[in-house]
Order: sequence, then structure tokens, then C-alpha cells
Amino acid sequence: MNNNEHKFCKYCTLKLEDCLDEGLTCRSCSESVHLRCLRSGSVPGGLHGDIFFVFTCQECSSPGGESFNREKMSWLKVLVLVLYHLQSRSPGLGRKGYFHWRNHVASLIDKNWESLFLKDFKKKKKWVGTVAGTLSHFSTYFFKSGTSVVNEPAWWALTYPKLTPNVISNLYSAFTNEKQKIKILKMSITDAELFTQILHKHVKNEDLLTPLFSIDTSVMETSEVQDEEAKKTKQFSVNKRKSLLPTFESTSKKLLKLNKNATVFSNLGDELTASYLKQNESSSNDVELSVKKKPYSEEKESVKLLNPLCHYNTSLSSAAKQKGNQMKVRLMGGIRKDLILSPYSSIYLKPYIRRDTETYPTWLRLMTEIQMKANEKNEEYNLPARAPIDYTYVQPEHIPAINSLCNNFFWSGIDLTECLQYPDFSCVVLYKKLIVAFAFLVPNVKYTENYVSFIFTRPGWRNVGIGKFMLYHLIQTSLGKDITLHVSINNPALFLYQKFGFKVESVVQGFYDKYIRNEMSESKHAFFCRLER
Ligand SMILES: [Zn+2]
Ligand SMILES: [Zn+2]
Repeated sequence: MNNNEHKFCKYCTLKLEDCLDEGLTCRSCSESVHLRCLRSGSVPGGLHGDIFFVFTCQECSSPGGESFNREKMSWLKVLVLVLYHLQSRSPGLGRKGYFHWRNHVASLIDKNWESLFLKDFKKKKKWVGTVAGTLSHFSTYFFKSGTSVVNEPAWWALTYPKLTPNVISNLYSAFTNEKQKIKILKMSITDAELFTQILHKHVKNEDLLTPLFSIDTSVMETSEVQDEEAKKTKQFSVNKRKSLLPTFESTSKKLLKLNKNATVFSNLGDELTASYLKQNESSSNDVELSVKKKPYSEEKESVKLLNPLCHYNTSLSSAAKQKGNQMKVRLMGGIRKDLILSPYSSIYLKPYIRRDTETYPTWLRLMTEIQMKANEKNEEYNLPARAPIDYTYVQPEHIPAINSLCNNFFWSGIDLTECLQYPDFSCVVLYKKLIVAFAFLVPNVKYTENYVSFIFTRPGWRNVGIGKFMLYHLIQTSLGKDITLHVSINNPALFLYQKFGFKVESVVQGFYDKYIRNEMSESKHAFFCRLER
């Protein structure tokens, strides 16, 4: 691109280069600074390739240091930026280099809304539709639909994945300018021809115009056979990208680390399920019995974990605790202090959804009464302070306890390890380390439908709004999608669902027939309810 041709970095004096070594230009002195040379380490927001800021360099700014103010963002810029970030930071999320417009693109925009747009930019009700519209409006020029590659609509990639958002945005300005001129001069040239001309005029390095490079999907699609040549290319492109992106090293390391941990845990989950099934096959439904018959030495920890009675009133099993230590997870009352990376959306989730110090459930009142009674005669006794009720996203260390609660309160054989794949759609409620409630939603059971798979609150913690908040949270994370669920026809939770706008769509006779229900008072028949968005 021409506009960086004679620009040199104010901090390091080296040349700036489009796509390879970009920077920001100071609005006061008009000099440029490499992204990698920024004193602040990186631009705010953390989106890779984001240069859409009004920037003031260290020298020109007030004592506060460099300043960054978001410039006005068009939907085109936002989409290019988000796709560029996804392809470079979370290639494993995509399918063959393509990303889902709603689950990946819109979802990332939603989470970064405040840093992407100016304060006065209104979040319209139908903004998700705008995302889809913009992608198809600029298809072929800037965005490429993956329909033929992924065999499913809704998947998108950048047409020229090696061009940075900065270069694409400049190309678009040049394109619209030229179009104006052509209109005035009444020249006969198609948009496609014009675009190709501009592209080759502005991007001299042909290598940058190669279409979708091979992205490391080996983790996702191991069945795919790649020849040596393809492997080499892949290695090359990965190395190259790395050298272009110096400031995000730490993030990717974190990502790697978390992924590793996730694997450790899903393996553990498999093992549990396998041994559980074995147990179940050989004996009747009574797992507990068959475990007891075995000599202690043969008894595996994994089997113990699945005995519901072991966990009826506990929270973290010893195995989970051990795993937690191995993972060097910084826990604070069962809650992480640092951000949680979602493998589903590649978004960093906050360690807390909500911290509630007000609610006083029956169980806590009861405990207080018991403590008071027990210390009646001790005049110096002070009641220990009450801990908050914490709402968090699901983490590996929660799974054993959640599974055992499910086995105990719903039916045996439930394993919710899979929910770790999409923690965005979960809510786990903790009192200190005790899991008091949880709710899970399965994204995209149908094209525009999310399904509430489990919602549970321990007895003694009910009727104080915990379930209500969890449901509210799940609805909020579902970005304009329908939400469906099944509920036993005589379960009072139906009223809560109706309050949120769920409507009964059908009655499913004997929905719970195949499950051994523990709460026998509940009907086997279910309502299928839907919240339309
Ligand atoms: Zn520099
Ligand atoms: Zn300056």
C-alpha cells in the first residue's frame, strides 16, 4: 500500500510495512509507531490486527502516556477485524479456515462490543442480522462463503487472509473513490474488474494475495490426510504469522496451556464414562452395590467419583482437587481469579458472572440457627461471616460434583464433561466450594435453536431467585436464538419458564420414561417449551 511507503517508526526508526510490520500514526505529530513498538505493549481491546484508533504518541500526549481512542467503525471494518482475529488467534475453532457467522463472528462482536464501537453507537435489536447481511454484501471481494467447502451455509472467511484489516480497509476506500470517478467519467468497467485493478496496484507482493492458507486444523480433523508438501506450507504460514505478531505471544501461550488442560480433563471424563458403563453393564442399575463388592485395591478412584452417594453433600472430590493442583489453577473459594478461555468462542470469560452477598437461602438460615443453638452458652461466640453466593462459568474442577448431583437428582449415567466445550452457555453457582446450583444450555441443537439441557438447584437453596438468575443468564448468552426445553408437566419450574416468555409447544408423552427418575413425584410426561426470539 502506498500510504506506508515512506513511513518510519518514531520509536525505533525502522520502516513500517503493510501487512508485515504495521503501525499507528500519531494525530499530533503525524509520525508513525510500529504496533510492536508501542510503549503500552499493545492496543486496547486485544483484537489482533486492530489499528482502528485515533492515536497519540508518547511524546505528544499528556503525562498519561500514549492514548488510543476508537475511531468510527463501519460494519465492514468490524467484520474484517473479527475474522482476522479468529483466523490468527483461534484457527482451531473454524472448519477448514471458515468461521460460523453467528457462533463465532457475532458472538465475538457481542463480547467486545464496548471496545469495538464508539459510546454513542446504538446496539440495534437486529444487529446480528446486519452481520450476516454485511458478509454477503461484500462476498467475493472481502469475504468468502464456505458453503462449498464446509458443505453447510453460514461459514465465512476472509477472501485474502494474509491482508491485514488495515490494508483491506484502505483497499475499500480506494475502491469507493475510484467508483465515484468512473461514474463521473462514465467509463465502462465492472466492479469486479475495477477491484482487481486496485488490488494489484495497491498490493505489490503477490504472496499476500494467496487465498485461504492452510490453517492448522489437524487438532480438529485428524482424519484428514496431508501430504508432506502441504505440511511444509502449513509450517511456513504458521511461522510467518508468528513473526508478524509479536505482542500476542503471551496470549497464545495461555491458550495453549488451557487447551492442554482441557484435554487432560476430557480424557478423564472418557475414562470415567467408560468405567461407569462397564459397571453398569455387569450389574443391575445399582452401581453402588457392585463397587462395594470389589476388593479395595481394585477399586478405582474413577468409580468412586461416580458413586452418587459419595458426593451427595460434598463439593470437590479429592481427584478433582488433585487435578486442580496439577493444572495450577488459582482457586479462590472454588473460583478462578483469572479469565477463562472458552474453546467454543475463543473468548475470555470473566471469572464471575455475578457475586451475590444479599440472598439468604433456607439452608444457610438453618446452618446459622444450628450454630447459634450450639453456642448458646458461649457469650464470646461470634457468628462467622456469611460468604457470598458466586455465579461462574463451568470449569473442569466442577464436573465430578455436577455429575454426581445429576446422577442423584435426575437419573444415572449423566456426564456433563461435554459442557466444557462451550462454557459460555453455562452457569455454576457456588457457596464457598459447594455447588448449590447449575444450568446448562446446548448451543445450536438446530440452526437457530439452543436447548436448555439441565437446570438444577439444591433443595434448601430454592425459591430465592437462583434458578431465575441462571435462566436469565442463559437467555442473555443466546443472542437472538430460540431457546427450547423439556419440563415435567407437574414441575413448578414451568411457572418460572412462563414468566420468561416460554410457551408450551407440545406435550411429549412419556418423555422421562427411559430414565429412572429419582424424584418420583414428577410426571413422566413433559412439556416441550420454546422461547421465541
Ligand atoms: Zn518501531
Ligand atoms: Zn506524536
